Amino acid sequence: MTTPYTGNGPDDLGFFGKFGGCYMPESLMPALQELEQAFNTVRHKPEFWAEYQQILTDFVGRPSPLFYAKNLTAYAGGARIYLKREDLNHTGAHKINNCVGQILLAKFMGKTRIIAETGAGQHGVATATVCALFKMKCTIFMGETDIQRQQMNVERMKLLGAEIRSVQKGRGTLKDAMNEALRDWIRHVDTTYYLLGTGAGPHPYPVMVREFQKIIGLEARNQILLKENKLPDALVACVGGGSNALGLMHPFLQDPNVKMFGVEAGGKGTHTGEHAASICKGQVGVLHGNLTYLLQDLDGQILEGHSISAGLDYPGVGPEHGLLFETGRVTYTAITDQEAVNAFQLLSQQEGIIPALESSHAIAYAIQLAQEMQPEQIIIVNLSGRGDKDLNTVKKYLAGATA
Ligand SMILES: *Cc1c(COP(=O)(O)O)cnc(C)c1O
Repeated sequence: MTTPYTGNGPDDLGFFGKFGGCYMPESLMPALQELEQAFNTVRHKPEFWAEYQQILTDFVGRPSPLFYAKNLTAYAGGARIYLKREDLNHTGAHKINNCVGQILLAKFMGKTRIIAETGAGQHGVATATVCALFKMKCTIFMGETDIQRQQMNVERMKLLGAEIRSVQKGRGTLKDAMNEALRDWIRHVDTTYYLLGTGAGPHPYPVMVREFQKIIGLEARNQILLKENKLPDALVACVGGGSNALGLMHPFLQDPNVKMFGVEAGGKGTHTGEHAASICKGQVGVLHGNLTYLLQDLDGQILEGHSISAGLDYPGVGPEHGLLFETGRVTYTAITDQEAVNAFQLLSQQEGIIPALESSHAIAYAIQLAQEMQPEQIIIVNLSGRGDKDLNTVKKYLAGATA
């Protein structure tokens, strides 16, 4: 049995065990090295973190509450369930934490233009938001299919001053948008900062995004110690690219008694081809510059992920999760579309909180887990975002249309 990984990665080359690294075209290596150097500089500057914290407090509304879900706990009939309320952040999810950190880094580097990829549009909106705040030029790459599906977020980004570039290549989804953003970056590397939305991509993105999302777990740790005077027994978070999960979990990795569960999108069932369970059902390969678990066919071609929640259908996962899986530190599991929709309705009715469909996967699993635990035990679930954006999707799903 390998020793559990306690969060001290990556190494100097960006590897978490064998996962991660920087498998990129040579034309981007100078840009990635410049980025890594800049991050390593600001990382040790107290002024940088003071400004980050200030914006999180005044603009994002942190700290986000840690809410004891009394009714949900009674419903499940087991462990005490706490919700980390990332849904209450400005723009409605955890993604803004990372955007604040990275735009400060872009400013430090003297960049004037920000580019980003987006799938459902949540990361695009968060990016456009910080660009407005910092008066930076903003270009968002979005697949044409996603543009059609996510009109509201497209309008939001435009209102915030962003230019939307439609990506017609491939299936016109997140993976294609990310490819285009990388191509744009190669052409405009002098002026442009690529603000990546999740803990995937080439080194140093996975470690940067983790450091900017760690605030979730750091706050949760203090909050639970104040409320319960002990650490939680379990943490539960949904896993798309893996940033909200890592943000919650990382500050607890060295506490052996805190069990951790990453919940992937089981879609129509992991026995069908239609899911996005990259760890539970994928294989190791390279996508977007890092070695990790991916959904791929026998020829190594990347498959399209399916999930009712647009934020979970990325066909890969951040590399640090690869190591957390292999060392057994985090247990990965999957929740289906149907189970997520049930949890979406249940939390709305039980607690008056409409969760994002992504977060509903974590809620669904936490209910099952609570039932196997004792009443004095504690679970913290990361409520990664609010679900107002998902009302139409759920309505259609319930009407029997395929999501
Ligand atoms: C984007 C998103 C996710 C998935 O991304 P991670 O990087 O895995 O956290 C989860 N929940 C919400 C609300 C999102 O917007």
